[in-house]
Formats: sequence, C-alpha cells, structure tokens
Amino acid sequence: MPVNKERYAELKELLNKSGTTLVAVSKTKPVEDIRELYELGHRDFGENYVQELVDKQPQLPHDIRWHFIGHLQSNKVKYIAPFVHLVHGVDSASLLREINKQGLKNNRVIDCLLQVHVAQEETKFGLDEKELDELMAIPAYPHARIRGLMGMASFSSDTTLVRREFNTLKQLFTKHTHAHPEFNILSMGMSGDYTIAIEEGSTMVRIGSLLFGNR
Ligand SMILES: *Cc1c(COP(=O)(O)O)cnc(C)c1O
Repeated sequence: MPVNKERYAELKELLNKSGTTLVAVSKTKPVEDIRELYELGHRDFGENYVQELVDKQPQLPHDIRWHFIGHLQSNKVKYIAPFVHLVHGVDSASLLREINKQGLKNNRVIDCLLQVHVAQEETKFGLDEKELDELMAIPAYPHARIRGLMGMASFSSDTTLVRREFNTLKQLFTKHTHAHPEFNILSMGMSGDYTIAIEEGSTMVRIGSLLFGNR
C-alpha cells in the first residue's frame, strides 16, 4: 500500500499548529515507503525492532532522525548507539547505564525518554510513578540524556479513559520539567488517539498505520 500523502499533509498542518513533532512509525514497512515520505521533506521515523532498524538505516539518507520506540534490550544498545536520534522506551536504570556506556564509546550524547506505564493493560514495560521518581533522582549521565517521557494509553474506545491516562502522563511530565532545560519532550499519541494526546499536551506523536496503512 502506498504512503497516504493527503493524510500526511493534513497531519502536518494540524501538528504545525500545535508545535507537535511527528514521528512516522515505519516498522514492518519497506524502505521505499520511508523514502516517499523523506522526499516530501519528512525526517523523523520510528522503528520498533533493532534488527529491522539496523537493516534499513544504511539503505536510507543519513540525515534521517531515527527514533527507537520499541522495547530495547541492553545487549542490543550497541547496534543502534552510533546513529539513533532518540530512544523512547527507557524503563530501567540498567538500560540507561548501558546507553550511557555506548554513548561514551561512540563519542556522542544519546537522547532518551523514560517510558511510563499509565494504561490499564498489564505489561512488564514502563515505570510507575515511584520508579520514575527514583530514576529521575539519579545523577545525570554525560552520554545518556533524559529528554522527557513516553507513554501509551489503553487500547480502548473509551475516550474518557484514554484522556485521563494521557493527563496522568502530562502531570508526571510537568512534575519533572524542572529537572533541566532539555527535559522538554512528551511522546504520546498514536494513529487512534493522537488528537486526544495533543489536547492533553503531547509534544511528539508516533503515527504508523494512518500514514503507511495497516500492518
Ligand atoms: C507501532 C507503534 C506506534 C504506531 O502505531 P499506529 O497505531 O500504527 O500509529 C506508536 N508507538 C509505539 C510504541 C508503537 O509500537
């Protein structure tokens, strides 16, 4: 299925108004689809799987900003550390430490978001409020910089619930914005719920199927 260019143009217009960054989630989609959006001027792309990202990255222009939005295992950080733009799903001190170590090896600062669990679904990923506070309290790493928070709302048609979850995330974000001036990214909102996320204060949405079609 080709990239939905009309949808992209509409989305860009809406997001420009609210100053929200669009991460085009290209997981499972071929590099040709990514190139189509690239040629329209798009630069921020999101991938969930290390192997897939490592395969695609060398085939595409090097000014693409690659967002890693999946669950990252510590032993795989080294594969994406040389080029990744933002790691969205950091949810442990040990992962953050490994990102710092690989950042040092690659002589760069790797930007990270801490993933917070706000949805009702059970998952082993994401921090609760107490764990978030603990992670925010550890001294800053020189090569792994915490830029903000990332979260997912429940996969539900109950918009009141989804809104409440995004609001919880926004409040946790606000609570920590004094951490440092670069703590300024709130990644929330996907194809099904991005309008609510923007209303609740998202600064970055991650949108896949709306642009690239169903996976
Ligand atoms: C796949 C994925 C998205 C995009 O989902 P769509 O519903 O296709 O927009 C966003 N965030 C994460 C973490 C994902 O895994």
